[in-house]
Amino acid sequence: MPRQKKSESEIRAFAPGDRVAVLLPLPLAGAYDYRVPDGLTVSAGDFVSVPLGNRVAAGVVWGVAHGDIAAARIKDILEVLDCPPLPEVSRRFVEWVAAYTIHAPGGVLKMAMSVPDALSPPKPLTAYTANPSRPDFRLTPARARVIEIAAEGPPRTATELAREAAVGVGVIKGLTEVGALLRVQVPAVAAPPSPDPHQVGPELSADQQTAAESLEALTRAEAFSVTLLDGVPGSGKTEVYYQAVAEALEMGHQVLVLLPEIALGSQWRTRFEKRFGAPPVEWHSDLSQGQRRAAWRAVADGSARVVVGARSALFLPYRDLGLIVVDEEHDGAFKQEEGVIYNARDMAVVRAQLGGFAIVLASATPSLETVINVETERYTRLHLPDRHGGATLPDVEVIDMLIDKPVPGRWLSPALVTRIHQTLAAGEQVLLFLNRRGYAPLTLCRVCGHRFQCPRCTAWLVEHRRKSRLQCHHCGFNIGLPERCPSCDAEDSLAACGPGVERLAEEVTATFEGARIAIAASDNIATPAAAADLISRIEDHQIDIIVGTQIVAKGYHFPMLTLVGVIDADLGLQGGDLRAAERTFQLLYQVAGRAGRAERPGRVCVQTYMAEHPVIATLTSGDRDLFLQTEAEARESVGMPPFGRLVALIVSGPIEAAVDATARDLGRAAPNGDGVTVLGPAPAPFALLRGRHRRRLLLKAERRVNVQKLVRVWLARVRWPRTVQVRVDVDPYGFF
Ligand code: ADP
Ligand code: ZN
Repeated sequence: MPRQKKSESEIRAFAPGDRVAVLLPLPLAGAYDYRVPDGLTVSAGDFVSVPLGNRVAAGVVWGVAHGDIAAARIKDILEVLDCPPLPEVSRRFVEWVAAYTIHAPGGVLKMAMSVPDALSPPKPLTAYTANPSRPDFRLTPARARVIEIAAEGPPRTATELAREAAVGVGVIKGLTEVGALLRVQVPAVAAPPSPDPHQVGPELSADQQTAAESLEALTRAEAFSVTLLDGVPGSGKTEVYYQAVAEALEMGHQVLVLLPEIALGSQWRTRFEKRFGAPPVEWHSDLSQGQRRAAWRAVADGSARVVVGARSALFLPYRDLGLIVVDEEHDGAFKQEEGVIYNARDMAVVRAQLGGFAIVLASATPSLETVINVETERYTRLHLPDRHGGATLPDVEVIDMLIDKPVPGRWLSPALVTRIHQTLAAGEQVLLFLNRRGYAPLTLCRVCGHRFQCPRCTAWLVEHRRKSRLQCHHCGFNIGLPERCPSCDAEDSLAACGPGVERLAEEVTATFEGARIAIAASDNIATPAAAADLISRIEDHQIDIIVGTQIVAKGYHFPMLTLVGVIDADLGLQGGDLRAAERTFQLLYQVAGRAGRAERPGRVCVQTYMAEHPVIATLTSGDRDLFLQTEAEARESVGMPPFGRLVALIVSGPIEAAVDATARDLGRAAPNGDGVTVLGPAPAPFALLRGRHRRRLLLKAERRVNVQKLVRVWLARVRWPRTVQVRVDVDPYGFF
């Protein structure tokens, strides 16, 4: 047997004079060599600051140096930062993700080092407390209030004390000068409160109990396993995986729960806090800088016990992660399409494998990938067949729009209008689902036919009547609603075509007098706070009819919501997307799952012009497994994922000729061989996006092919100008 080279991670500490590789969080760089200066020892994983050009950068000691820099040119590490080191498993994860997604490791590390501030410890705060020996001083009512308040509770900052006592900060200063208040230093950030795993949850049904016990055992095993927790909406999947969370906590591990949308977080958070007596630590794009900093450090030092977050939470520097739950695992929102392109669900499985622990994928509509992994016994499946408490699944009624036509310019069929009246009369709530923001998806001139298109994207401008603007949903370009057609100069000639949620809400307001209506779209619930506010108004039954996009489709639980109307079930079925049917089915099934989640039975009305389509048929029959089987056969017959592999190359840039030339060069250099085909180059569906021209190539290969290796070789064969960008998307989801 050949002698094994010692792996880099086995060599731990480095002494003065040693050379080490330091990985910097930069998208284009590999690791750079630096020297350990006198008086310093460093270990792999340490966060360090190093000179880079004429600035100072922070990076991570990655291992032994490559040794390709001349002794005279090598620079010294400046210092080791006061921050827990990046654990070995996190470093291996960075490398694994980089290799799989064909991105630079530094680009992946950047996601783990997303809060540069957090690399140094927070400065202690100056706080004030009452001097117990009470020196003599002139007492005013304001001063008396401050002293009284400061005498109780922990030391507080001047601002906090002033606010509580309703005085100016000057009063605090004055009292400090006369010695009545004492200055003390307190840690800037308190450790997050710990959830209590011993708090008892609800009594589980027999099915739930069986599933929970399996998950607990898998968590306890401290070995890699993937479990699909498959159950209809409302079957108690969350209650069941909470048991695994409790188990991991009891064992002293950290837990990560990934959710597809941050908007979902508020109900989840409240529920978690009720169950465990303390809130989880949140991680998403809407945190303040201070919150991000505190969360990052708490994850790194292990005091954050349970983290709930969007996909980027996967890259946090967990000190001791012992369980991951991916809720709504089928959701396309787990796919990150910018920067490093990755699917957080898939990478979470890798993270669990590297860490040697259990991962739970929960869904009522598991992805085909996951279902096939269960069939081939890579994953195990736990099944919750029934809704909790005997709640029944909603009846699905298909409304054939060819027969039951709405009047022109309206979108609600007579049958649906009747159902809505009945529901309102019973004092229950209605959700009307239309996956289109704004007022109308297309505006055209009735005189000359001019259509308003974004100048920077292959997309129509969407009318937002409330803002009185035409807006591009891809790049943000927008203009005021014009009074004349810019093409033929006709006045008042513009017509809105098709409905968005705003237009539907207008029709609903006109049709159901007195009903309280809310629109739920990313335009008006952009922040978690706004989402939480709307959700609590719905829960308190201050809303009768919700008109919403997919933002309300997922995960929510509204006991009084008994009717769901799907306005245009056909929307997602058009277009050539590989997953169009699967995704539409998942989305509509999720939306349908919002109806009748408590004692009151629910009904779902699906408006469609394609009543015969398999997706619509499956919604009525409820035979999900048959649908998945048909879908699997269709994909297998053409070697599409999960039965084959895909890698997309997206060539883009501001100069069309340069983009075309690069795309052609890539086409000519494309690998061909056993089990590999390359399609394209072809214009991307969004041939123009944010002012960039876009072309696509698609590599399709059999499963056994190492596509990463092929693509690396392929890219190395072609040179392209600086204005052109070539992005690699392994396992592409959207084809845009
Ligand atoms: P899912 O995650 O499968 O959609 P949930 O866990 O959200 O299901 O459960 C749906 C509702 O039923 C929630 O309000 C939940 O608190 C309640 N529920 C589920 N199981 C139980 C149980 N064993 N005892 C009491 N309430 C339960
Ligand atoms: Zn645009």
